[in-house]
Amino acid sequence: MANPLYDALFGKYAGEASPFLYLPDGTVISHAGFLEMAARIAGVITGAGLKPGDRLAAQVEKSAEALALYAACVQAGVIFLPLNTAYTADELTYFIDNSGAAMIVCDPGKLEMLAPIAERLGCQVETLGADGGGSLMEKAAEMPGEFATVDREGGDLAAFLYTSGTTGRSKGAMLTQDNLLSNARTLTECWRFSDKDVLLHALPIFHTHGLFVATNIVLLSGGAMIFLPKLDIDRMVEWMPKATAMMGVPTFYTRLLDDERFTRELAEHMRLFVSGSAPLLAETHERFEKRTGHRILERYGMTETNMNTSNPYDGERRAGTVGFPLPGVELKVCDPESGEEVPQGEVGMVEVRGPNVFKGYWQMPEKTAAELREDGFFITGDLGKIDEDGYVHIVGRDKDLIISGGYNIYPKEIELLLDEQPGVLESAVIGVPHPDFGETVVGVLVAEAGERPDLGAIEAAAQQSLARFKHPRKLVVVDSLPRNTMGKVQKNVLREEYKHLFA
Ligand code: ATP
Ligand code: MG
Repeated sequence: MANPLYDALFGKYAGEASPFLYLPDGTVISHAGFLEMAARIAGVITGAGLKPGDRLAAQVEKSAEALALYAACVQAGVIFLPLNTAYTADELTYFIDNSGAAMIVCDPGKLEMLAPIAERLGCQVETLGADGGGSLMEKAAEMPGEFATVDREGGDLAAFLYTSGTTGRSKGAMLTQDNLLSNARTLTECWRFSDKDVLLHALPIFHTHGLFVATNIVLLSGGAMIFLPKLDIDRMVEWMPKATAMMGVPTFYTRLLDDERFTRELAEHMRLFVSGSAPLLAETHERFEKRTGHRILERYGMTETNMNTSNPYDGERRAGTVGFPLPGVELKVCDPESGEEVPQGEVGMVEVRGPNVFKGYWQMPEKTAAELREDGFFITGDLGKIDEDGYVHIVGRDKDLIISGGYNIYPKEIELLLDEQPGVLESAVIGVPHPDFGETVVGVLVAEAGERPDLGAIEAAAQQSLARFKHPRKLVVVDSLPRNTMGKVQKNVLREEYKHLFA
C-alpha cells in the first residue's frame, strides 16, 4: 500500500540533504530535516488520538514548522484544514464547529481566547508560534524522527480548504489527494519547474495559492523555497537574487513596481513570475514588462478546483486574460439559466471539469448540489468568455453582475474604461439599489498619487463610450479599495457602504 500524496511530495526525499527551505534569518532546512520535523509532529497528533479522516485545523503564522504540520497531516492521513490568521473568535467557532475538527493548532497568543471555544466543541488545542515555540514542537521534540506513513488512496480526502468568503460565508471544499496531486503535476510541467528552481515564497500558506500551488509544485519538482513570513518588499528585494521564480497576487506586483530598488537588473536572472487569486490589471502587466522585460504569467483558479487555466509558458502571455484551460481540464462558458454553452466570444458562466475538481462542500449538500453538476462540471460563479484565439477572459463574478432596468451590466467593462482615465489608479464598479431601475451603477475610484481625477471629464468619457444604461450614476473617490489578504476587492463591503445612495 501507499500514500500517493505523501510519497510524491515528501517521502521521496528520505535521507536527502538537499536544501528545501531558506529562511530569512539564514537558516537552511534540508528535505530530510523537514521530513523529520513532519514525522515528529505526526507522532504528536496521532499520539493525541487523531485517526485518518479526522480534521486538524491550523491557525498559525507562516513558518517551516507550520508547513511541516501540513506534511504531518498527509503522512498520518489526517485532513489538513488551514485557516486565515486574521479570523476572529466568532469565525474560528464557525470553522471548528462546521468542520468538526478534532484538534486546532493556534498561535500561543490566541490560546486564552480559543481554549474555552475549543473545549465547548470537543476539540483539542496545541500551540505553535511564529518562532516555532509552543506546545506542539515541545511535544514533537520527544517523538521519534520517523513515522510509519499511513496508507491512503488517491480518492481519500487530504484537505478541507475553506473558500475566502468574498461572496458569502466560507465553504469547506473537500479536496482529495488526487485533486492536489493531479494539479501539482500539471502545473509543474506547464511552468517547467525542476530541482534547479528556487521559488521566492511570500504568500500565506492558509490559501490554495501559497499552500498548494506554490508548495506542492516545489515539492514535486525537487526545488527549494525562500520562505518569507509575509509580503515584505525589503526582504523580497534582498532575496530575489537567489530566486529563479516568484508567485504572487497582483498586489505583490504593484508594490514591487512602486519600489525603485526593483530594477531590470534585479529581476533579470528570474525565470518566471506568476500572478493569480485576483485579476491583474493589464496596466500592471505592461508596466512590469517595461521595467523588467518579463511578462507576468497569469493563471486562474479557486479553492474548489486548484488551478484551471494558465497563460502559456512559451507563446503569448496575453494581458487581461487567464490563458488556456490546463491539460486535463475542460472549461466551458454557459448560459447561467439554461446551462447551455453560449456561442464563442459571448459572456457566460464559467464551468470546469477535471481531476482537479473537489468532492463537494463539507456538510453543505444543498450548496454542493447547486454548484457541482452531476456530470462533474463545477459552476465557478465567475463570468467569462473565450476569445477567438482560445484565451479565457474572466469578466467578474456573477454575484457582482449589475442588473439595471432589466439590462445586464458587467462591471469589468466599466472598470476598464475608468482605469484608463487620467489620474485614476484603479476602480471598482458596483450595483446599488435604485427605486426606478432596481439597481444602478456606482463607480468607486482610487486616484493616482498626488492626482485629483476630473470627475466631470470622466463622466463625459463614459457617456461617449458606453450605452446610457451603463453610465455610472455616481462616481466617488476613495483612498483605497477594501481588499482581503489575497488582494481581492471586497465588493460586498462597497455595496454595503453605498447602498443608501439612491434608495
Ligand atoms: P468565496 O467563494 O467564499 O466567495 P472566493 O471565491 O474569493 O471566496 P477563492 O477560492 O480564494 O475564494 O478565490 C477564487 C476566486 O478568485 C475565483 O472564483 C475568481 O473569482 C478569483 N480569481 C482567481 N484568480 C483570478 C484571476 N487570475 N483573474 C480573475 N479572478 C481570479
Ligand atoms: Mg468562490
